[in-house]
Amino acid sequence: MEGESSGRVIGHYRGSEAGPLVVAIGGIHGNEPAGVRALEKLFELLDEEPELNPGFTFRGELLALRGNLEGLSQGKRYIDADLNRIWRPFIGKKPVFQTSEDRELYELLACIEHAVEEAPLSELVFLDIHTTTADGGIFAVTGDDTPSLSLAAEMTVPVVKGMLSSFQGTTLHYFRGDHFTTDFPVRAVTFEAGSHNDPNSVELALAATINLIRALGCVRDEDVNTYHDELLRGAATHLPALTDLVYIHRITEADKFVMSPGFVNFQAVRKGDVVGRDRNGDVAVPDAGYLLMPLYQEQGDEGFFLLQDYKMPDGY
Ligand SMILES: [Zn+2]
Repeated sequence: MEGESSGRVIGHYRGSEAGPLVVAIGGIHGNEPAGVRALEKLFELLDEEPELNPGFTFRGELLALRGNLEGLSQGKRYIDADLNRIWRPFIGKKPVFQTSEDRELYELLACIEHAVEEAPLSELVFLDIHTTTADGGIFAVTGDDTPSLSLAAEMTVPVVKGMLSSFQGTTLHYFRGDHFTTDFPVRAVTFEAGSHNDPNSVELALAATINLIRALGCVRDEDVNTYHDELLRGAATHLPALTDLVYIHRITEADKFVMSPGFVNFQAVRKGDVVGRDRNGDVAVPDAGYLLMPLYQEQGDEGFFLLQDYKMPDGY
């Protein structure tokens, strides 16, 4: 299929039974190769599985893609533009690419649309795997609708809601929003697998992906090693199960924002705690909660995020 020669496609597994089409992408940010490695390992496991376990069956399809190929080859988050902020449809047959990431997006969409057209799918599920610069905690981000939240929860990882209304142009927006009109259900989950350079992030991303395809019924419970569940539960111990985004500290280069060292994901903070500095002096958190994704890299438009515990209203 298209893209294969460029290294875009990690693998395309077609099960013997019809079911959901799962599209998994690693390396949307080029300095986050753990997701790519996890998906490569998943395809190695899928190749071996029928020999080790003759009763193994797979329902539906799994398409795994490398996100920002040029960014991955240079080990940079992006070349010209953040690939997780520009998702939109291309109008017309021959687009002119303004940025390196425009081309990446065009190729990704071509692969996905091709798979959607070919597959007799019951549902489209999109998994986008990332890692963060900070230590301390794995989590899933998804839409605030019940089917998406329950799928994320079934991955047995902490779930962060409320992100969708705060950004434009992310993969979640594209697949959960108006750009992708379908006559079948679409769900999208972003998984943050730990810190960029922790080898454990690869294992956690692999475990979360396996839990996702199990939750969707692509693979049977009895065919999944409980090792993955234990790994995720171990990494999520002491982390809040469901939180809501309440604040984003947005920055520009001119702000000269520098996060104070030592903060980790889900670190509890009190209102007024100083967490960084910019050209105007100290930067404090506006409310109590948990810090998420404190910025410890040069590229990025958000200094940190603030979360608070969230309880689902009755009826969910
Ligand atoms: Zn990322």
